[in-house]
Amino acid sequence: MNLDSRTMMVMMSALVLLFSALLTLAGLHAGNARGVQHWALGSLCMGLGVGLSYTQLEPSAAAWVIVSGATLVAAGIGLQFTGIQTFKEGRCNRYLPWLLIGLVFIQNVVFVFYNPDVHARVIANSLVFCLANGACARALFIRIEQPLRTAYWFTGASFLVVTAVFLARAVMVFMAPVHTYGLYVQTSINSVPLFIGSMAQVCLAFGFVLMLNSRLAADLQKLALNDALTGAFNRRSLEREAARLVARCARTGDTLAVMMIDVDHFKSINDRYGHPAGDEVLRCLAAVAQKTIRSDDYFARYGGEEFCILLPSTPEKDAWVLADRLRQSYAEMEMAVAGEVLRSTVSIGISDSAYSGLEFAVLVADADRAMYRAKQEGRNRVVMYSV
Ligand code: GH3
Ligand code: MG
Ligand code: MG
Repeated sequence: MNLDSRTMMVMMSALVLLFSALLTLAGLHAGNARGVQHWALGSLCMGLGVGLSYTQLEPSAAAWVIVSGATLVAAGIGLQFTGIQTFKEGRCNRYLPWLLIGLVFIQNVVFVFYNPDVHARVIANSLVFCLANGACARALFIRIEQPLRTAYWFTGASFLVVTAVFLARAVMVFMAPVHTYGLYVQTSINSVPLFIGSMAQVCLAFGFVLMLNSRLAADLQKLALNDALTGAFNRRSLEREAARLVARCARTGDTLAVMMIDVDHFKSINDRYGHPAGDEVLRCLAAVAQKTIRSDDYFARYGGEEFCILLPSTPEKDAWVLADRLRQSYAEMEMAVAGEVLRSTVSIGISDSAYSGLEFAVLVADADRAMYRAKQEGRNRVVMYSV
């Protein structure tokens, strides 16, 4: 390919510097997502490093410029890796980038000042950059829920391309005759990796922005669908899921059961131990319910101290068995709140579509009636609407 290495290096440097500005702007409104600043700084280092390396296009390039160019590129990749770790886990390993910077700095000082050898320097740099980009790709190819998975894997694939480019460059330079590996030589050994590398840098910048966008979308979805206090689904998600299950049961003829759960004498818990203690009791109940239900069941906070569980393909009697297990587990639970150990109970009402029909509002109303009967009959019990 007859591409001009000089033009491409200037383009790549300018592009990466622009991405640094773009990522800085994106990081300003990143909410809780951390790591974007590392990517912005990494791009800045990378852009400056590639820019400095431009001078290598002259055979008489200044030695210190060559060393600083390679070290800045190493800093850029190290910061990208740190950014990924921080974005994923909220914390990072600070030593790894410094290790990478130190290694690249030392090998460039050795091959520029003490034992001048362009051949060995290019191979050593390419291999280290190959490993570092491979580590970034490895960190991104993980199992994670959508939409983050697409963004992670897209960015990971871009890192993989850069990894392959550096590996190919190390191999090509290793096999090339001695006079063809300097950056100033206009051969495809330089121009092709530069071209693919530039494209991959564009994809990396898009990948980081996509990751940030997906994280914000996932956070927003979580906020919209979950109850902040207990982490259970909220009323809005419950109604959406109920509509889906009702349609499914209407199609398959399956029975849908609904369970309404209400904490007994919850007001007196609040009055006696305080509102924060009441909140803790609600969190404990949600935790027990999450542990008791099956993977198909849907647990949500209906409002106040009332919770609702949707049980697809479940007749009332089977729902009763599950409800009684939940009632018993909760009643046996000792909750340490407000410096005291307390116990509490729940009353549960159950309805099912075989008796009440497939309208969600009717199912909830009937389960509610059954729950009030449980209250009247003395609380801490499970009542079926049809009995
Ligand atoms: P019963 O056994 O008949 O159900 O009695 P109860 O006291 O549980 O019934 P009631 O419906 O009168 O009390 C519900 C209380 O729940 C009233 C309200 O202050 C409290 N509550 C509702 N939401 C929350 C919450 O998020 N946190 C706390 N701590 N209390 C809440
Ligand atoms: Mg209530
Ligand atoms: Mg109550």
